[in-house]
Amino acid sequence: MLESPQSPHCIVDGTPYLAFCSNDYLGLAAHPRLIAALQEGAARWGVGSGAAHLVSGHFAAHQQFEQEFAEFVGKPSALLFSTGYMANIGVVQALLGRGDTVYADKLNHASLNDGMLLSRAGIKRYRHGDMAQLDQLLGKAGNVRKLVITDAVFSMDGDIAPLPDLLALCERHDAWLLVDDAHGFGVLGTQGRGALAHFGLDSPRIIYMATLGKAAGVSGAIVAAEREVIDTLINHANSYVYTTAAPPALAHALSRSLELIARGDELRARLQALVLQLRSGLSALPWRLMPSQTAIQPLLVGENQPALPLSEALRARGIWVPAIRPPTVPQGTARLRITLSAAHSEADVSQLIGTLHDLAR
Ligand code: PMP
Repeated sequence: MLESPQSPHCIVDGTPYLAFCSNDYLGLAAHPRLIAALQEGAARWGVGSGAAHLVSGHFAAHQQFEQEFAEFVGKPSALLFSTGYMANIGVVQALLGRGDTVYADKLNHASLNDGMLLSRAGIKRYRHGDMAQLDQLLGKAGNVRKLVITDAVFSMDGDIAPLPDLLALCERHDAWLLVDDAHGFGVLGTQGRGALAHFGLDSPRIIYMATLGKAAGVSGAIVAAEREVIDTLINHANSYVYTTAAPPALAHALSRSLELIARGDELRARLQALVLQLRSGLSALPWRLMPSQTAIQPLLVGENQPALPLSEALRARGIWVPAIRPPTVPQGTARLRITLSAAHSEADVSQLIGTLHDLAR
């Protein structure tokens, strides 16, 4: 249990730790300007939204953030959801039904998988990043509605999906593409505009989803797409329609977060430098860092047995890195999921490197 704000230096059950396990990639979760914005938002709009969006819970603060976000990522329209989990299940369930087909990378996030089940569409899962297999599967689909869904940055591996290839396949086979940029928004691309900006991609086929509780430092998720898509979600995404709107004060804070992200080049540069420091510092260990350029740097251990004791040994030395085991990741690929944040210092990363080298001896 955390007894301090989210930060690399936190207190857990009374003990101080150096933590490498949050998704607060830019260190905004406890940023003074966001704290002030949330306070301002609560003073202006109150605390609760009081109702679902389609009843009386849709506030000017929600609307403003949706417009700002759509503009920021270069899409015509956007819709705020209370969480990323709800956004994913809502989008897939609203856009597909019986008789349609959904195509998913095998390492996609659980919320995308649950959305597929809810939609009642036919489900085809392709091997991680295997574009040839996806091409084949799409080729066999016939004349049905098709949606390809993918994490942009895979949450347990840290690698980036081949989005240009995915879009080319979607164009060739007339499919939609849902990109879950939970771990790329704020971090990748010019001004942190995310994975699409990272690759310079723009297409009306793309439905772009970003979560707002990771690099953005607040909570919630937002889907940006063509206006017709957003109109469909407003009316048919059950996880949007049948739930109380997120507090408008959160939307107010999110507008401020967007400004901090846009002006956050220094934070992104620091994060990137820490990634390089970690990768070069851990290159000689018996365990292998997985090939990732992002803030998610998993250290592959293999079986649960060595992974858990390694995580516990770090913890005994004041460092918090969780072990991730099957079924969250495939059998035999238990790992320590190290995540970095712009809030870490070079000394923090050196301490992790030094401790892992000590434990390897
Ligand atoms: N998609 C991905 C790839 C994620 O990693 C997560 C959260 N871990 C989500 C969606 C869900 O987002 P949220 O935590 O806002 O529900």
